[in-house]
Parts: sequence; C-alpha cells; structure tokens
Amino acid sequence: MSAPYGDSTRSVKAVDSEAIPGAPIAPSPTPAAAYHIPADEDDTLDSYGRRHNPTWRRLESGLAQLEGASAVVTFASGMAAVTSLLRAVAEPGCTLVVPSDGYYQVRAYAHEYLAPRGVTVVEAGCAQMCDAARDADVVFAETPANPALDVVDLHRLAMICRPRGALLIVDNTTATPLGQQPLALGADLVVASATKTLAGHHDLLAGYVAGSRPEVIERLQRERLLGGSILGAFDAWLVLRSLPTLGLRFERQCQNAAAVALMLRSHPRVRSVRYPGLPDDPSHPIASRQMRRFGGIVSVELDGAQAVHDLVRNSDLLVGATSFGGIHSSVDRRARWGDPVPAGFARLSMGIEDTEDLLSDIDRALGPV
Ligand SMILES: *Cc1c(COP(=O)(O)O)cnc(C)c1O
Repeated sequence: MSAPYGDSTRSVKAVDSEAIPGAPIAPSPTPAAAYHIPADEDDTLDSYGRRHNPTWRRLESGLAQLEGASAVVTFASGMAAVTSLLRAVAEPGCTLVVPSDGYYQVRAYAHEYLAPRGVTVVEAGCAQMCDAARDADVVFAETPANPALDVVDLHRLAMICRPRGALLIVDNTTATPLGQQPLALGADLVVASATKTLAGHHDLLAGYVAGSRPEVIERLQRERLLGGSILGAFDAWLVLRSLPTLGLRFERQCQNAAAVALMLRSHPRVRSVRYPGLPDDPSHPIASRQMRRFGGIVSVELDGAQAVHDLVRNSDLLVGATSFGGIHSSVDRRARWGDPVPAGFARLSMGIEDTEDLLSDIDRALGPV
C-alpha cells in the first residue's frame, strides 16, 4: 500500500470520478423526483427522489472516505441528521446523555421531543461526560464543544460505553474529519453539520451520519425515506464541490485561529481566550492526543456585550454571523441565543484570509489600549 495521503490530497480524492473516456471529471448534479423504471424490473436502484439520488451517493462515498466509515447517510441539515439519528436509536425507556455545553438545539430537541416520549434525558458537560456515560444507553458527545471549546476524552469515553453496550455518537461538526476521527477513537457513529466548515461557504445547510454498523445505517436510510428530510441534489452537489478545497481551507483556518488565539491571549482588551491548540489551554492535553488539527474557532470573553458589538463594527474583515467555518472570518455573541456564557463571550470563526491581515485588523478593531 502507498503511504497515507495528506489532507488536501484526501480531500481531492474524496470526489474522484470513474475515468470513463468522455465522461466529465466533475459530474453535474442530478435533480430527479422520478426515474424511468422498466416494466419488468422491481428493484432499480434509482426509483424515487426521496429514496435515492446519484449525487447523494457520490457525496456519501466521499464523506465516508474522509470519516473512515463504511457508510454515510446525508440529510437536509445538521439538525435533520441529529434528530433522525436520535429517533432511530433512542428508544422509549432508554437513558440518553446530551451535552450541556454543546450545540443548544440538540439538548432542546432531547427535552422537548424525546423526554415526553419516554426517554430519560441527562445533561452533562464535557468534564462530566465519562461519569454520566456509566448509566447511559446512548451517549451523544460533542468535542470540541460549541461554543466554549472544552473537549471530551473520546478514547476513555469509548472504553466506558463499549463494554456496557452503550451507543456512542460524536458530533464532529467543529473538528471536521480532518481535525479528528471519532470512529477510529472508538465512537460508533459520527453526526455532523456540513453547513459549517465542511461545506464552508455560508451558502447551504446539510448534515450527515457516518458509521460502520449496517443495522443503524439501514434504520437511518429508512428514517430519511419516511421522515423525508432529504438533501436537495443541488445542495448535495455544492457540498461535493466544496470538498476538494476542505484540506486547503481547514489548514488556513487552523493556522489563523492559532495565530489569533496567541495574539488575543495577551491582549489587554480580552478577559480570557479558549483554543484547544494553545499549550496552556485546559483542553490542550486531551486535544493534542486525539486531534490532528485544533480547528478554526477561537472563543473569547470581552468586557460585555457592547465590546463584542464594537469589535464587529470596527473590523473590516470580521462579519457578524451565527455560523462558523466559512471562508469569511465571523463573530457570534452567543449569549444572544441563550447559550450559558457571559454577555461578552464571542465565538470567533477564522476564515481563509491572510493571517497577518487578520491579526492587524482584530488588534485595531479591539480599540486603543
Ligand atoms: C450547527 C450545528 C449543528 C446543527 O447543524 P445545522 O446544519 O444548522 O442544522 C449541530 N451540531 C453542531 C455542533 C453545530 O455547530
């Protein structure tokens, strides 16, 4: 076998098409609701647009390669992937652990939809995940957790879940498959929003589940067929079109985040900084064992809400937006959405701009010291 490829080569190879003479290197999307079905055939692969689509299959195969999974099921959004997966695996009577410090709509769904249907929902922060997992049937972990960037020791968590037969799901949105490989660390399933870094252009929503358990994958395909939260062919194609640059984009975003975190760490206008790649960050020891790159998000606390608003107003490069992972650097004041963080807490998502430009822009936008 040849040596393992680097991240950009893997990103490009993930969308390889078959070398058929005359066929396009980059096939177009196939929007289709209905397909021709020969009168005497009962099991054509493509029959109806809620069951299959050739563009999904190309995307699912590329994502499976990147996540190290045997199969991927795509959905209309990250939340469609999360909720379809939880509906499929969290049976009435089971105990489900969800992050108290992760993406807020995941715990909202668990409390508002699953708990009334007989699921015992337990919240745990990154630091309590391993303890909470000892009594759980399904564990949903998110690491690094959005927005405060604590991390969960995935190998240790898997060692607790596996002997008990508890299912371990990891939300890999913030890290991307190039930042960490939860399946290789012992997770049963990965779920992610492709809306963020993976597609990376702030222009679509998409989500997926990756794994290697055929019975769960089949249930998810059934869940998608019956639930109907399918990814449109054009959006699937836009994600496909974004994959080859994932390596390049993510490398630059991680480089920008590391530089900005280092600069902000000693900036007099900044109360505190979290970035798993900073050597003195509380997350660093675990992050450096399980992450291949530390990601493009830096969390900071400034002197109150107004200081965050001023930062966005004074900057030429940062846009105010409640998403992350795009090519533009962006800022989100998370208290606005009810996250349990201080009013001056801001999640900075570093884009692909030049590092020196971002450093001087942010320094200037924070105001004279
Ligand atoms: C955004 C996000 C989701 C939800 O994804 P959508 O594509 O917005 O539905 C789930 N998990 C995490 C960690 C996220 O950041």
